[in-house]
Amino acid sequence: MAAQIIDGRALSEGLRAKVTAEVAELVRDHGLKPGLAVVLVGDDAASQIYVRSKGEQSRAAGMHSVTHRLPADTTQDALIALVRQLNDDPAIHGILVQLPLPKPLSESAVLAVLDPAKDVDGLTIASAGRLASGLPALTPCTPLGCMIMLRETLGDLTGKRALVIGRSNLVGKPIAQLLLRADCTVTMAHSKTVDLPDRCREADILVAAIGRPQMVKRSWVKPGAAVIDVGINRVPSLDPVKAAEGATRVVGDVYFPGVVNVAGYITPVPGGVGMMTVACLLQNTVTAAKRIHGLG
Ligand code: NAP
Repeated sequence: MAAQIIDGRALSEGLRAKVTAEVAELVRDHGLKPGLAVVLVGDDAASQIYVRSKGEQSRAAGMHSVTHRLPADTTQDALIALVRQLNDDPAIHGILVQLPLPKPLSESAVLAVLDPAKDVDGLTIASAGRLASGLPALTPCTPLGCMIMLRETLGDLTGKRALVIGRSNLVGKPIAQLLLRADCTVTMAHSKTVDLPDRCREADILVAAIGRPQMVKRSWVKPGAAVIDVGINRVPSLDPVKAAEGATRVVGDVYFPGVVNVAGYITPVPGGVGMMTVACLLQNTVTAAKRIHGLG
């Protein structure tokens, strides 16, 4: 039987509606309008689209929203000065510096000055440390979205065996921490893991955050497992004529047409995890605003 599709579109709409209601309540009861500042350096096409979407969705949720667009030749000092200014701005509760930054700007130097209380991307060392220590933390948005999808689909995750492929600070590591916090038994895999298909077959929850198109095959997946595909990979169109003209399509890290026939639950790409990321950013901004004002 084909797996149940975990519908990122529907779940993200539900989360955005919840955030919108919460923003309205904060404005009405406390005069508090959560504010999100997004900083974009340079003119990377994909980043422009993400940043536009973040601005539109935060405004649609009733938030205060500002976008700072800086030229690609912005200096490290100028970028750091802007982040410090946003740290001090009482109307801003969440700061997101869109990554990757153009060379030679240093991401770690920017994250080092970003106020952890406003770190809605959950990427500062303070946020990562709090997460790893089991303390309340602002959590990276994509991992947060994965956990919402798993909880909405499976309910209690206690005791489940989870395997996360990928160990980046942005995705793999925080997902593993969140699964651990949810009382799963967590294994982390990466490019040096031996016998990866065997390790995958042991997992009740399989998270693929690899960046390798359709790498996870049907034979790797335990029947009935929940498969969360974080990957976003652009590959040539299936239509050879269009492909020859340069047309592309987006696929995940999981070979969906095969895995859908063995998994119990699966996120599609597109329409899965990617839909949750911005909704979780809005949620994090509300969380940050409430904590800054002693309300959460
Ligand atoms: P990344 O920083 O490149 O990390 C990739 C991870 O995959 C690394 O830990 C790497 O292992 C591991 N890996 C690479 N090849 C492997 C192999 N053959 N076998 C096992 N592990 C392998 O990527 P990322 O930022 O975590 O992103 C992962 C994917 O998620 C990408 O497709 C990205 O586009 C997507 N993504 C999606 C969203 C969303 O909103 N849906 C958000 C962020 C990222 P090593 O550490 O050993 O090198």
